Amino acid sequence: MFPKDLLRPSEADGDDDDDDEFSSGVSPRDNLVRPLVVVDRSVHDGGTWFQPTTFEDLLDLYRAYGGRGDGIKMVVGNTEVGIETKFKKLSYPRMVYPAESIDCLYEIFATDASLVVGGCASLSDLQAYCHDLMKIESGVGDFPPGGGDANMRRTAKPIHDMLRWFASTQIRNVACLGGNIVTASPISDMNPLLCCHGATIVLASRPRADGGIARRRVRVSDFFLGYRRVDRGETEVIERVEIPLVRSRFEYVSPFKQARRREDDISIVTSGMRIRLRPEDGDGGMRWTIEDVVIAYGGMAPMTQLATGAMEYMVGRTFGEETFVGARRRLLEEFDMPDDVPGGQAQYRMTLAASHSVVVASVYSLCAFPLFSCRLGSFLHKFYLHCVGELTKDVAAAASGSALPPVPTIPSDEYSIMGFVGAPKPSIRGVQSYPAPRIAVGLEAVHLGQHPETALAAVDGVGQPAKHVSGPLHVTGEAMYADDIPAPEDLLHGYLIMSTRCHAKLVSVDVAPAFLVPGVVGAFTHEDIIRLGGDNRMGPIFLDEVAFVPVGDKVDHVGQVLGIVVGISQDIAEKGARAVAVEYEDLKGKAVVSIEDAIEAKSFWADMVHEMQRGGNVTEMLQKTEVEGKKLVVVEGSMRSGGQEHFYLEPNTTLAVPSESATNLIIYASTQAVTKTQMFCASVTNTPAAKVVCRMKRMGGGFGGKETRSVFVSVAAAVAAKLTNRPVKLTLNRDTDMSITGGRHAFLSKYKAGAVVEEDGTVKLHALDVQIYNNGGCKFDLTGPVLDRSLFHVDNVYYWPHFHSIGIPCKTSQPPHTAFRGFGAPQGMVVSEHILDHLAVACGVSGDKFRRDNMYKPDQSTPFGIPLGGNSTGNWNVPDMWDQLYTKLDVPGRRAEAAEFNKKNKWTKRGVGFTPTKFGISFTSKFMNQGGALVHLYTDGTVLVSHGGTEMGQGLHTKVCQVAAQAFGIPLDHVYVNDTSSDKVANTLPTAASMSTDLYGMATLDACLQILKRIQPIRDSLPPDAALKDVAKKAFFDRVDLSAHGFFALDNDRCGYDWFKEKPKGYPEDLPENSWRGRAFNYFTQGVALSVVEIDVLTGDHKTLSTDLLVDVGSSINPAIDIGQIEGAFVQGMGWSTMEEVIYSDDDHTWIKPRAKTFTTGPGTYKIPAFNDVPENFNVSLLNSENPFAVHSSKAVGEPPFFLGCSVFFAIKDAVAAARGSDNGYFEFRLPATSERIRMMCGDEISSECIASDEKSSFQPKGSF
Ligand SMILES: Cc1cc2nc3c(=O)[nH]c(=O)nc-3n(C[C@H](O)[C@H](O)[C@H](O)COP(=O)(O)OP(=O)(O)OC[C@H]3O[C@@H](n4cnc5c(N)ncnc54)[C@H](O)[C@@H]3O)c2cc1C
Repeated sequence: MFPKDLLRPSEADGDDDDDDEFSSGVSPRDNLVRPLVVVDRSVHDGGTWFQPTTFEDLLDLYRAYGGRGDGIKMVVGNTEVGIETKFKKLSYPRMVYPAESIDCLYEIFATDASLVVGGCASLSDLQAYCHDLMKIESGVGDFPPGGGDANMRRTAKPIHDMLRWFASTQIRNVACLGGNIVTASPISDMNPLLCCHGATIVLASRPRADGGIARRRVRVSDFFLGYRRVDRGETEVIERVEIPLVRSRFEYVSPFKQARRREDDISIVTSGMRIRLRPEDGDGGMRWTIEDVVIAYGGMAPMTQLATGAMEYMVGRTFGEETFVGARRRLLEEFDMPDDVPGGQAQYRMTLAASHSVVVASVYSLCAFPLFSCRLGSFLHKFYLHCVGELTKDVAAAASGSALPPVPTIPSDEYSIMGFVGAPKPSIRGVQSYPAPRIAVGLEAVHLGQHPETALAAVDGVGQPAKHVSGPLHVTGEAMYADDIPAPEDLLHGYLIMSTRCHAKLVSVDVAPAFLVPGVVGAFTHEDIIRLGGDNRMGPIFLDEVAFVPVGDKVDHVGQVLGIVVGISQDIAEKGARAVAVEYEDLKGKAVVSIEDAIEAKSFWADMVHEMQRGGNVTEMLQKTEVEGKKLVVVEGSMRSGGQEHFYLEPNTTLAVPSESATNLIIYASTQAVTKTQMFCASVTNTPAAKVVCRMKRMGGGFGGKETRSVFVSVAAAVAAKLTNRPVKLTLNRDTDMSITGGRHAFLSKYKAGAVVEEDGTVKLHALDVQIYNNGGCKFDLTGPVLDRSLFHVDNVYYWPHFHSIGIPCKTSQPPHTAFRGFGAPQGMVVSEHILDHLAVACGVSGDKFRRDNMYKPDQSTPFGIPLGGNSTGNWNVPDMWDQLYTKLDVPGRRAEAAEFNKKNKWTKRGVGFTPTKFGISFTSKFMNQGGALVHLYTDGTVLVSHGGTEMGQGLHTKVCQVAAQAFGIPLDHVYVNDTSSDKVANTLPTAASMSTDLYGMATLDACLQILKRIQPIRDSLPPDAALKDVAKKAFFDRVDLSAHGFFALDNDRCGYDWFKEKPKGYPEDLPENSWRGRAFNYFTQGVALSVVEIDVLTGDHKTLSTDLLVDVGSSINPAIDIGQIEGAFVQGMGWSTMEEVIYSDDDHTWIKPRAKTFTTGPGTYKIPAFNDVPENFNVSLLNSENPFAVHSSKAVGEPPFFLGCSVFFAIKDAVAAARGSDNGYFEFRLPATSERIRMMCGDEISSECIASDEKSSFQPKGSF
């Protein structure tokens, strides 16, 4: 298998043929010193790994294989090759990892002329080395080996700074510089910087076995030939990169990077710029002449590109803004970015790099502005400001008496940060505070007759900040998830056969090719479900889904499941599934993708349109200009919010285990819906539900994504297990999971709203008319209930006397969208806050005062008929909480500070977001407000609880344990919660709506109290200090049942809302409007947040300087867990509203193919907040509160604080408004506030130039809604 010449003699079967370059003339000892290690391991279709330990051996391998068709692949950090093999399905038969003993590849050193970096040196090593070099000038530390001079620092700092933001520590630790260069990514961060430094690559090869090493030098700027094509011969490797040191005192280098997220993200646009200035005495006096300049960009062309036109223009000219403006004109000619450029964001990229889109460039000659008034691209402008700043310092530091030209001046408010690349990473601080722990009594007093006096002492019982019971397992990796269950004998792995199209008829599915893949054991489609006698239909509300799409039916979304292939490994199953031949027939017209498409095509679930009306006819009211002689201010507009990917750590997984000739099935699933999983696995496989058990130990996150969308995964595995009579495991890859499981619904709301100006200047909300559309995707799933919840929350905390809302669910070709933390409420509340902003601007009043003046007062009712406060919902705390924060945090002071800052800074703006929330708790469908628990007391005094709720990291089991521990008066570690299992607690509801502690805490307490009641006589018969185990033992011998099933159902009059119920005749007029429809919520969890942010106007980057949250979670059962939930929900809400952007192939993203495909299918394209995005000062307080309507006076916590994350969004909007300055009127600021949206909405002269003139007032960056 290996060429003889590449084997060590011992491995060459003793062949000492004279031609053998290694054995000939090489003593065995030499071979020991310089062994060529050959590791034969089957990888990538039987590929081979080589690990040469000398440079010559490496080059010989390249000589032997490099020129051959299938070549040889060097793998160093594997951060690129790994992606090529895993996602692009490339396979490399030969791979080589050069041993670290090959010094020239790994060493880094500095000479008097340059910084030399081995081709395989890790980026972390380079970063550390540059860090050391940076200390030289400041006199700290020793000179590194190789010497250095004062310009070392200027060379090293930009490299160091860029590397700090290159990927993550983990990636930098393994990834090498040569890998970054050879990959030739058009958005490489290092390549533009190396170009601007004038770096040279040294390529090495060994043309002859007995010859020396040949070296060729290529400038990095000449190395890139086209999209991912480089000037590297097939037998060449990068030996080293030589980066010339900055030579002049007046030479400046800057890296630039803008990404969706600061941490661990690839660039949207990246750049390296270097300029060398020379003082010159010219005709008009002394001036700074540009002696040399290099401007290199990534993200602006298919490869790293020099702006040669701009560079040529600048050389020899005077350093000043005019020259930079002229350079920008050249940039415009050089970079051509059509609207549908791959990667999108054309206007934004042009703004960052060059300012001006090609659309505008084509009408450039018609431009009303004289050219010299046009501004520089954002990066170029930053570079200019930076150089002026540095030059000013250098001139000031020059020896007195030295005659130097004057430095151009810039207005003081223009001094700007360099962007995040040069900025220090923040250290994050926070204070968590909560009232003194107590055992509060809530609903159980009424429901179960448990009173405070009966509370027993318990270690870590109710009210205590006990740690999550599985916390140690989570952090040590010992926690078992579905995929960790030891493989049963005969296990098969599954891979879904998925449609690659949508809006097409499924003509045929031929699974025969799958069986040509060795190891494939079965391939099943809809016909096999028929064979089983199963019911193919599925769906949580309507049975509008199918397990496997039948031939002849329409495929509704890209990635829809057509069947499953099973094989002896996941790889094999995947290969088999990909081999399945599927034929489609396109349907007429184009797929409906966005809400706008759906409105145009009238693609709605028309029967599920819900409406809410209170007060007068809002349409008529909003046509008026006065109300009772007072001025009525009416505004009209729209607001959009995007989707969100659940991004749980654990993708969907199911292990289906058949037994007894597959008449029984056990389904181990990562699901929030144990019963739904059991029932659909039963119906699709034609198995009685009683013979199907669904078990769930814990999920690695759910966030609503596993409430319904996990079921089709389990069903597919169950079908295959039933038909093969073998266990089948189906774990979705991250990209599959993200492509097909749907996510949060995108929303579009159109509104007309009016407010009345009272005589004293107070502005009072008057009437609201709002239409809310959500993008449900192709199946109903939970689209209706999600939309309902947005209708229930579009009032947020404000009283609208006249109110009309209508919710219209849209049907599109996206995957079915589903539950996600907040379940439509945040999408409703964000509209509410947006409308309040709009009205405040229109009325010219302070948003804070306007909000406070219009908050519900106790006893005022919501539009759906729930009076707030007292006997109805418990205390209405939002106004007080608002006032508390307003005073304590000095909100007016913070706003004044931000305004002062903004006055002094043109390119950096601060904003404040002060945002309240109320979140309704309980399912709006009555039947869902129930829960059961099974409790066993053992004779050693320990307690085992099984209940219907599922643990997804939220701490439900911990709280339930605390409730049981408290009931029995035992330490928390004497109580355990078992897997959630359909054979222990049957007919459960999905763990959702934040109310699982309300349901299962009460059900568990019910069971505990039943047992306690039974053992009370025994306890009474024993000494008062008898331990529980003694009581239990005696009870056992006395034949007392030590197990009990507990149950809780929320009172009939406190849950269930019927949208279509007409007002009954004779309904009491003093009851609130719409209360005849029932009761949407049991009570409200409440909160207020204050966030302060800073945005970089030139790039759209932002950071959250501080956040303070005050949340009313009643009397917390576990403050530690509740604060964790609040922080987590806040960050997730912040992610949704700022950086998480789900993109589909739609009219705005035509470069993604095919239409309707999800683009954001992995962490590379979809960014959730990273550690550095957490507010720098992050404080959370729990209100000292109570709640008579839930167990132990607690309140639900999982979802409610999510919306508080939007305080960051509104703070950003405030900062953007400051940047818009005199245009500081109303603007629709869509959510999420991505860097693109922030940048483009600032409406400054640079971004405005990138927008066609007829679009200026209405321009919106693209997005998928
Ligand atoms: C999560 C993640 C985040 C990332 N973030 C960034 C980022 O912020 N900015 C950015 O620019 N890139 C980023 N990347 C891309 C990647 O990290 C870099 O391109 C990296 O430098 C590649 O190095 P490697 O050692 O992993 O290369 P490998 O994957 O091992 O190899 C890549 C290619 O280079 C070749 N090669 C490697 N060394 C040599 C050599 N000495 N001579 C000849 N050929 C060689 C290999 O044969 C292969 O073709 C990211 C990647 C990941 C996975």
